[in-house]
Amino acid sequence: MTRPFLDPDYCPEETSARLAYSGGRLDRLSEDRSESCVTDALAAPGTCVMGFAGGRVLVSFAGDEPNGAFSVDELSPFHPRLDRAIMLGSSGGHDMLAVPLDINPDDEDFELPEPFKAIDYRSLARQSLLSHEDLGNAAYGGAMLAWHATNRFCARCGEASEMRAGGAKRVCVSCSREHFPRTDPVVIMLTVDGDKCLLGRSHHFIPGMYSALAGFVEPGETMESAVRRETFEESGIRVGKVSYHASQPWPFPHTLMIGCYGEALGTEIIKDEAELDDCRWFSRAQVREILAGNGPQNDDGSPQYCMPAQMAIANRLISDWAAQD
Ligand SMILES: [Zn+2]
Repeated sequence: MTRPFLDPDYCPEETSARLAYSGGRLDRLSEDRSESCVTDALAAPGTCVMGFAGGRVLVSFAGDEPNGAFSVDELSPFHPRLDRAIMLGSSGGHDMLAVPLDINPDDEDFELPEPFKAIDYRSLARQSLLSHEDLGNAAYGGAMLAWHATNRFCARCGEASEMRAGGAKRVCVSCSREHFPRTDPVVIMLTVDGDKCLLGRSHHFIPGMYSALAGFVEPGETMESAVRRETFEESGIRVGKVSYHASQPWPFPHTLMIGCYGEALGTEIIKDEAELDDCRWFSRAQVREILAGNGPQNDDGSPQYCMPAQMAIANRLISDWAAQD
């Protein structure tokens, strides 16, 4: 009998479900895994394996559509570390694993044989190289592998920990403390004052790029408190009512972006010089023009302002607000 999906009531029309990296629908089997589940899956016909190395995903361009899910045999030329394989879950009766590859795609002398490429998570999303579901699985697998790679020692006693239940947890070999994979919540918010929204640019942004402000949720905070605190710290703008819009798994390395709208209680900006290169109000008409590529230009014809790529929740927040009457 095939188990049900993790989320049988998945709503493809909801805003979060339409964002990049959100399409994973595997049954994660997290509460129901044997210690041999990875070994069993590696030996089973039909198991799908995704290969990861240096923040990139192995993709084959052999078929009509690029593909990131392989059989165990297909992955063997790429030095898979099967001892570190992680069970992602099951779909349609077949298991899916994430496996780190012992290759270095950032090495200048390194070249994968045709038709394979190792592609970073952003490019996978921007170029729509994988199906929505496989892109979600790639983000999930990458986040899990990143967590395991940086949590090899017990946070309580400092001794080594071991992966258990196919990667659903780690257990300390000395004090038996269990450690579970974590995701870090980040609020990203579009603060609005009537027909204007607040956008900022970090020092590392490309020229002209403005985006929604964002920051990590701190211990003891609600999502709403974090929106108000981060907005005030970065821009000096006080925010009243906060409303949730959508969320997005963000595999850099294991974050959940929580997209919100905030109602501004004032308009005078006092920006955090260390965090922001600029912060300003944009009218809805301005934002619409910039999103449509019809914004003001520099002397060399390049756009004076640009917005985050469509794959990012920041773009969704800004676009959905701009589309309102
Ligand atoms: Zn320990």
